[in-house]
Amino acid sequence: MSKQILILPGDGIGPEIVAEAVKVLVCLRDDFGLALDIYEALLGGSAYDEHGHPLPEETLRLAHDCDAVLLGAVGGPKWEPLDISVRPEKGLLGLRSELGLFANLRPAILFPQLADASTLKPEVVSGLDILIVRELTGGIYFGRPRGVETLDSGERRGINTLVYTESEIERICRVAFDLAGKRSKRVCSVDKANVLECTELWREVATRVGTDYPDIELSHMYVDNAAMQLVRAPKQFDVVVTTNMFGDILSDCAAQLTGSIGMLPSASLNAEEKGMYEPIHGSAPDIAGRGVANPLAAILSVAMMLRYTLGEPVQADRVERAVAAALDQRLRTADIAAKGTETVGTARMGDAVVAALREIGD
Ligand code: NAD
Repeated sequence: MSKQILILPGDGIGPEIVAEAVKVLVCLRDDFGLALDIYEALLGGSAYDEHGHPLPEETLRLAHDCDAVLLGAVGGPKWEPLDISVRPEKGLLGLRSELGLFANLRPAILFPQLADASTLKPEVVSGLDILIVRELTGGIYFGRPRGVETLDSGERRGINTLVYTESEIERICRVAFDLAGKRSKRVCSVDKANVLECTELWREVATRVGTDYPDIELSHMYVDNAAMQLVRAPKQFDVVVTTNMFGDILSDCAAQLTGSIGMLPSASLNAEEKGMYEPIHGSAPDIAGRGVANPLAAILSVAMMLRYTLGEPVQADRVERAVAAALDQRLRTADIAAKGTETVGTARMGDAVVAALREIGD
């Protein structure tokens, strides 16, 4: 039976990079016989412009009906003046929440060809392979009360609430332990248990879940130390599990270790392993419309989709090998350009990956 894929290009560079990822999906469908039906819908600012809401009902219905969603990115200065309830990011958070996508997998892998593109010394980052498992539907991004209120004095006060239930912590920790079992069997749980009661509970639950996984080594680290350790000695980490906000911040930091945020894909999974796949970067308004954005994070998101939702690990490997082959040809988008390489635009990079995919064959 065909798998149903929903494409949400989004805003800014979203449509540019997603177009290249779609080329890869179409190549897998037309040249290699993968049974895929591909649909497209609006999300974010483009959806607001068309329908007055960043998450239109039609998009939500398609997302529920499809097996997997591929998203570019949403947001941009054009929509910043809007009320927060209809800002593009609200559409994305709403979609994650509606689909129950609580587990966000963010690998930070350094392609050997890009060791020079990192701002860290090659010996610190070469061979880097970290998996950050970020809780995605709870924590301070969703907690209530929230908002900005005016006190009797006339002064305004902003409020957000960090909240996690034991079951929310337990299920994300289980995802991390299960994944660590297929890797080097180490989980580091990141919290701020010394000052935040909510993450004291996080540490307690992580420890309890850990007793069900005797072959996995569990360590705990405060988030401030984790940020420092990530740039000091990143290879000490294997699987990192953490809250929504800490994971958001640490994964951008980990991204830079790999040379560019334009290289990193992500998967957001629900309990049935239905997934939304997206680059970890945003809509990059500073370079949007110029055809220079790096499409590799979006293409690597397709590889994650093949691996985690479509049950096609061999095809996933092939896509990743095709990306490596394009880098071997010394082709680089501007964000990863280095001496002795050829700087190419978004479409040329996508075409090179598709050509490599065809060359690799079955
Ligand atoms: P950003 O990730 O869009 O950009 C940060 C920097 O990285 C910019 O200099 C940008 O040019 C560069 N960059 C990002 N992706 C790149 C790529 N593929 N190739 C080359 N360079 C790339 O983050 P930001 O500037 O903080 O946010 C811009 C907008 O994106 C905001 O509206 C923000 O809310 C939104 N955003 C959306 C998502 C999402 O949709 N998941 C995530 C983060 C930010």
